Amino acid sequence: MEKFYVTTPIYYVNDRPHIGHAYTTVAADVFARYWRVKLGDDQVFFLTGTDEHGAKVAQAAETAGEDPQVFVDKIAQEYMRAWEKLNISHNYFIRTTDPRHTAVVQEVLQKLYDQGLIEKRQYKGMYCVGCEKYLTSTEIKDGKCELHPNAELVAQEEENYFLKLSELAPQVLQALENNDYRVLPKERREEILSRIKAGVEDISISRTGVSWGVKVPWDETHTVYVWVDALLNYFSATQIVKNKQEFWAPDLQLLAKDILWFHGLVWEAILIALKMKLPKDLFVHGFFSIDGQKMSKSLGNILEPMELAERYGVDGLRYLLLTAFAFGNDGDISVEKFDVKYNADLANGLGNLVSRVAKLAEDVDLSGVAKADDSLDARIEEALKNYRPDEALGVIWGEIGALDKRLDDDEPWKLVGEERTKKVLSYIPRLRWVAGAIRPFMPETAAKIEKVFAGDTVARPEALFQRL
Ligand SMILES: [Zn+2]
Repeated sequence: MEKFYVTTPIYYVNDRPHIGHAYTTVAADVFARYWRVKLGDDQVFFLTGTDEHGAKVAQAAETAGEDPQVFVDKIAQEYMRAWEKLNISHNYFIRTTDPRHTAVVQEVLQKLYDQGLIEKRQYKGMYCVGCEKYLTSTEIKDGKCELHPNAELVAQEEENYFLKLSELAPQVLQALENNDYRVLPKERREEILSRIKAGVEDISISRTGVSWGVKVPWDETHTVYVWVDALLNYFSATQIVKNKQEFWAPDLQLLAKDILWFHGLVWEAILIALKMKLPKDLFVHGFFSIDGQKMSKSLGNILEPMELAERYGVDGLRYLLLTAFAFGNDGDISVEKFDVKYNADLANGLGNLVSRVAKLAEDVDLSGVAKADDSLDARIEEALKNYRPDEALGVIWGEIGALDKRLDDDEPWKLVGEERTKKVLSYIPRLRWVAGAIRPFMPETAAKIEKVFAGDTVARPEALFQRL
């Protein structure tokens, strides 16, 4: 691997940043930070951003009594502030209302139209306001949208432009079966494979009567659906940002399972039609439940990342999110569980270990300490190549636990003279290693620990994690 281009989905601005957005973005940040160290800063491109068009956004702006552009500007700012707070190291924040992006969208649509892959048809179907699209027969369960069972479907008839997805699907299927692009974990690959094999219908890509969107270039009475516009951000960013063209195609695209259809099939169909390189890996992570319940505005159980960052510190929150459950699975989180884990792994675990060793080494000369042994690095790299930050952190915390236990067994505080010094010095390379290993996950904590053990004498450590 020579370069690493990683993307999060762009987040829809009808919603403020919540814990699900933070989860995906922190994970992407870990991969970006890890590969920057391995490949060099210039070899990594980390993209995130906001999805700002569509009827739902126009509606939300109207409810707020605001011009849509003013409205989306404000929410985009909220996302940017949230990512700054969580120490997210994205190289670019793309916004779909950027005219340079919309120009790329129009260019792509025109190309597909010129190839005869887009066609105007009269359309009659069941429309889901939640999805902002007409549903295919497989997406309707008991007369309701699978994803929005509480919303009534609306029977509508209108003139739409259609992308001939059925014509492109066999090539997508072949590409997926050949591993020209991978969908991970394998259950998600199975899911998308079986959905493609079950038959793919052409898909409506435009509507009339929605003004807040990208205009269809050859017919300005139509605007394109927000998802067409949104998918193309991954490409347009490489055109907009200076010197990023050579980063095409993405090496890793993170997404949650509700947008698998668009990312695992429609996206590749468009790229194949344009004769463009496909992304290498799509990794689909799961959903959170909060205390056993689905997170929802109506239940009032939305966890605010900013509030959690106040409680656990930014690095504490990053750690708790990444270790809550295996990346790729669904999982349940709660403040109670986070509190227990925070105290065990961070306050009593890493934080306590650092202060114990720092205290022992207070008046020891560290100048002759050997370089850290790095036999665990390969396991961390392996875990991250498999997109399992939780596993990588498990390796590091295994070492932290082992060091803690060794301290208890060795009881170096009972030793004196050279024997004590020798024993104490044996811990320093391990602590230096821990500091380096946690850097992509917990950059501020890593820097604090490095400062303690970097010099010829130990620097007094700041408290890393206050017990709750
Ligand atoms: Zn829906």
